[in-house]
Amino acid sequence: MTPPRIAAVDCFVLKLPSAERYLGPIGDSADPTPPAYAVRPPWRSIYSPRFETLLVRLSTADGTSGWGEALAPVAPEVPAEVVRRLLAPALIGTDPRRVRPLSAALRDLMRERGHLGGHQADALAAVDIALWDLAGRLAGLPVHELLGGAFREHVPTYVSGLPRPTDAERAALAAEWAAKGVDRIKLHLGQGPAADLATVDAVRAAAPQVRLAVDAHWAYDLAAATRLARGLTAVGGVEFLEAPLAPEDLTGHADLARRTDLPIAVGEAMRHRYEILPWLRQRAVGLVQPDIARTGITEAMAIAELAAAHHVATAPHHSVGLGVALAAGLQVCAAVEQLTYFEYQPTTTEVSQRILTAPLPGGPDGFPVPAGPGLGIEVDVPTVTALAEES
Ligand code: MG
Repeated sequence: MTPPRIAAVDCFVLKLPSAERYLGPIGDSADPTPPAYAVRPPWRSIYSPRFETLLVRLSTADGTSGWGEALAPVAPEVPAEVVRRLLAPALIGTDPRRVRPLSAALRDLMRERGHLGGHQADALAAVDIALWDLAGRLAGLPVHELLGGAFREHVPTYVSGLPRPTDAERAALAAEWAAKGVDRIKLHLGQGPAADLATVDAVRAAAPQVRLAVDAHWAYDLAAATRLARGLTAVGGVEFLEAPLAPEDLTGHADLARRTDLPIAVGEAMRHRYEILPWLRQRAVGLVQPDIARTGITEAMAIAELAAAHHVATAPHHSVGLGVALAAGLQVCAAVEQLTYFEYQPTTTEVSQRILTAPLPGGPDGFPVPAGPGLGIEVDVPTVTALAEES
């Protein structure tokens, strides 16, 4: 029998409007010509008012397709160009069942030039996910079976964010979630230790049964992060402190981890096993949070295994990735042994389902592991094609 060969590589850049913004309002809503991207102080990154992403489709000559997605929340045109110019020529004609050898070969194309991160990594992640999806479809097996089998049939989640401008409104929203049975919520903070602790107090008072976590969005120096960590420990019932210091400050995170009992969570900015290893060795991280649409499935699994070897659990990140990224995250969550929970994004999930023929079932209390071949989803190709033309 002739082995399957990749015959086409297609990119789809999407920029979807949504009534509700990820993490709440962005920019000046009265501005008649808002910028494409804006910073939300005190956070330092730029955000888009739309849901921007890159989808990649790999197809064999017989018409079987696999889909991947890069978490590319700003300028997804850039990783699309990396896929078209650098990765597609190396993929055409190859056997997509050789997922790991192909991913390794693609990683090596720009490796000695220092391109294992950034937009190159976005492109690699999307292609890696598409390879796993395509290999699964060709085998008639879900990706988690290709990875060795599911440790669980249901992926537990926590609710990420209370996107309201005041503590009173955040507390009210937390109470709404608690009334629906939600028992874990992460707060997106970084407004200063005193303000953050006031938010935690307000939310705790409104929803005392909910366990909390805090994402500080890299806002603090070591002294401020230490004050916050100690305050959160005193409050009790806080699961982890995420991204307290600058993302490249390994030593600072290690110092902080020694000063607090609270697990320090990082990983959403990391792309591969070599990046996380020194953090684990220096005990700078107590919970690892790879985003599958930034690492790909191959590297997410490698990161989770390395973390497990250091007795650190994995809690995959999920932010504005759409349905393909969500399904890829769920496949990894099924296959990771030391998993705590997956990030559930209320504002993203509705938007993410728009590109699928049938929505992924699940919600704030978790998702069933998709059981169909590949990622276990069907991408709505006419919708994706039309959305890419509008974007
Ligand atoms: Mg985060």
